Amino acid sequence: MFRIGFGYDTHRLVEGRKLILGGIEIPHATGLLGHSDADVLLHAICDALLGAANLRDIGYHFPDTHPAYKGADSKILLQDAYQLVKDKGYRLGNIDCTIIAEKPKINPHIPEMQRIIAQLLETGEDNISIKATTHEKTDAVGREESMIAQAVALIVEESFAFGVSGSA
Ligand code: MG
Repeated sequence: MFRIGFGYDTHRLVEGRKLILGGIEIPHATGLLGHSDADVLLHAICDALLGAANLRDIGYHFPDTHPAYKGADSKILLQDAYQLVKDKGYRLGNIDCTIIAEKPKINPHIPEMQRIIAQLLETGEDNISIKATTHEKTDAVGREESMIAQAVALIVEESFAFGVSGSA
C-alpha cells in the first residue's frame, strides 16, 4: 500500500531569466534555463511522484520539444503529474527534497515554497519538507552555473490513505 519514488533534476543558471524555484519567483541576477520555466525543484518532485507510481518521467509526459510546454508554468506540470498518480489510485504521503545551490540563500523562501507546493498537491505543509545546501564552491553548482534538486515521495494507496489520514 506504500510506494516510494525518487526525482533528480538540474538546470543551468543564466542571465536574462527569472529565477523560478519551488513555484515562486526569487529576485536574483540569474535564472534557470529551460524549455519550461525550468523550476528545478518542481521538476524533481514531479519525477519523484511519477517514479513512485511507476509512471515514467516528466520528459515522457511533458516533452521539452512540444510547443505546448514552451515557457510552461511548472506548477501546472506538477498538478498534472499528481493527477496521473491519483488516477492510478494513490495519494501523496509526504515529500522530502533538497535544493543544491550556491546562491541565492534559499532558506528564507522555504516556507512560501512549502505553502505553494502543499496547495498544488492538496496536502498539509507538514508533508512538504524542503532543505537547502550548497556545493561548497566546487563544480558547476559551486560556480553558480547551475542548480540541482533531489526529491523523494511516498505515495499511499487511496483506500488506505483515506482510512488513516484526513490530509491525504
Ligand atoms: Mg527540468
